[in-house]
Amino acid sequence: MPLGIWLKAGTSATALVLAMAGAATAATAPASAPSTAQAAAVTLRYDDSRAAGWEAAIAAGVASWNASVSNVRLVEAAPGTAAEIVIVATTGWPQATLGPVRPGRQVRVELGSQAVSQGYNKTRIAAHELGHSLGLPDTKPGPCSQLMSGSSAGTACTNATPNSTERSRVQSAYASGAAALAPAHRTLIDAP
Ligand SMILES: [Zn+2]
Repeated sequence: MPLGIWLKAGTSATALVLAMAGAATAATAPASAPSTAQAAAVTLRYDDSRAAGWEAAIAAGVASWNASVSNVRLVEAAPGTAAEIVIVATTGWPQATLGPVRPGRQVRVELGSQAVSQGYNKTRIAAHELGHSLGLPDTKPGPCSQLMSGSSAGTACTNATPNSTERSRVQSAYASGAAALAPAHRTLIDAP
């Protein structure tokens, strides 16, 4: 009870005025500071300037991740500026460096047309490879409900949304404190 302490400790009129002013301020101030309850998201920039033909799939895959997790956010890098995730189109199988990539570092995603010619969904491919950038390994074989089951879910699978386990893994990888850790990167090739 701050008001009671003030009144008990001070007997002068000045102390009473201060105590009342303090009480008035306390009554209008918020009970807690909401800004400290929520950590800022880590922002990662991606460069798809060399991924011609994949723009729509990349945009959809990025939107899927941004809607699924809150600790990390993917944004398109301004032309000619640095990016943490460099996305390129190739004629091979999709592949990606395993993250989680940290701000200022760099991983590579290759979106390979060979998977498309075999019937695999482009948006699922893009979201899957971005999952590698965010630190998720493959979970093959696995069901279509798993984004990281990749090609093992078959060509009919168009799911581009991470499931709850995949979301929480990424959330943990980019949680406050964990964001400072820089793992060794390795490349995962997504040929069936
Ligand atoms: Zn993969």
